[in-house]
Amino acid sequence: MQKTIFQKIIHKEIPAHIVFEDKECIAFKDIDPQAPIHCLIVPKKCIARVGEASAQDENLLGHLLLVAAKIAHQLKIYDTGFRIVINHGKDGGESVPHLHVHLLGGRALQWPPG
Ligand code: 5GP
Repeated sequence: MQKTIFQKIIHKEIPAHIVFEDKECIAFKDIDPQAPIHCLIVPKKCIARVGEASAQDENLLGHLLLVAAKIAHQLKIYDTGFRIVINHGKDGGESVPHLHVHLLGGRALQWPPG
């Protein structure tokens, strides 16, 4: 199967501004930021989208959220607030078929989302 753009970033085949990495995941700045801080937290395991995660991914899914909060601290948006988003499928706005958590902050975000 062809690698997704995120697999290429995980394998360091294409560059990204990496803000965090551990055994389970990598986090980097979004190439088209929708807020002053916009990072993607991506598991190294290939899971196409959140709905395709299985029971054995439970700890990994939790880990991604804990890493998002850690990065919010690191990038100094923890106190002002931030938003975590996961897009699943066409209507959800998913464009890259490799599970990723968006971390957005640095400005007041609208609700409801568009
Ligand atoms: P989705 O729409 O699937 O929820 O989010 C995919 C995100 O990946 C988008 O916000 C898009 O800007 C970002 N993205 C797509 N290609 C690249 C890339 O090559 N590098 C980085 N850093 N972000 C990317």
